[in-house]
Amino acid sequence: MKFEVTILGSSSATPVYNRNPTAQLLNCNEKFYLIDCGEGTQQQLIRYGIKASKIDYIFISHLHGDHYFGLVGLLSSMHLNGRIKPLRLFGPKALLEILELQFKYSETVIRYALEFVPVEADHSRMIFENADLTVESIILNHRIPCTGYKFIQKKRLRKLLIEKLEEAQITVEYFPLLKRGADLTFPDGRVILNKEYTMDPDEPKTYCYCSDTLADGSYMAQIKGATALYHEATFLHDMLDRANQTHHTTALQAGEIAKEAGVEHLLIGHFSSRYKVLQPLLDEARSVFETTELAIEGNTFQI
Ligand SMILES: [Zn+2]
Ligand SMILES: [Zn+2]
Repeated sequence: MKFEVTILGSSSATPVYNRNPTAQLLNCNEKFYLIDCGEGTQQQLIRYGIKASKIDYIFISHLHGDHYFGLVGLLSSMHLNGRIKPLRLFGPKALLEILELQFKYSETVIRYALEFVPVEADHSRMIFENADLTVESIILNHRIPCTGYKFIQKKRLRKLLIEKLEEAQITVEYFPLLKRGADLTFPDGRVILNKEYTMDPDEPKTYCYCSDTLADGSYMAQIKGATALYHEATFLHDMLDRANQTHHTTALQAGEIAKEAGVEHLLIGHFSSRYKVLQPLLDEARSVFETTELAIEGNTFQI
């Protein structure tokens, strides 16, 4: 099952050096989840050949413009392009008020159902579930209420050992039962033990998205053991005072958090406009956590 994230924007605050403000697209089993929607996200979708019509869920972390200024444009374009299927939007309560005001004064009545789910930043909770995954909010520590999101794959069905099943002349109508772990008993008394004809499924994977936050680790319990962690790393560590003042994280701190959380991979982003070249941020994070990558726009990471 596909579980991958494509970076659409990795800049903090303003677009600079061809870097767009924050946005990412998660593909889980060919269902598409947009995470944050900075200015220019529509253009980025076009640039990377992704149809906006595929997106059925949008998650907004907080109401700083670099995380949602692209949203009203994207929602309007979906309307103009004839979307009729519902779209579910998760974000701070005031986001709906902002959107309604924009639609009111442009006399726009969008033709699809926009199902808004307010996400409170008081404590973490499960906010979404479908056949493929569940999503939990992560409470971050920023200047305004801010939530990250944790995408947890559901346990998969058992894998069939097709050659053995063919040898035993087990036909396809029994496959769904075997995938669910059942043994088979036939009228002639023949018994097919599940464990001899199937394998354990792949372990469910987890993707945690944490932007923006002070690196106080208050959210550590939620990101523990994640397969992949995206963490903001706005500054180099020589800017620690500035990071603390603005409730952001340094690349070194992002590496330390990934290490303490015991994640497999770290992806850093939300880079300050003061850095034209990003390699020093990568080097700094890697000095404490080796399996770190930069969230470079257009790159897709397998989780
Ligand atoms: Zn930001
Ligand atoms: Zn912010």
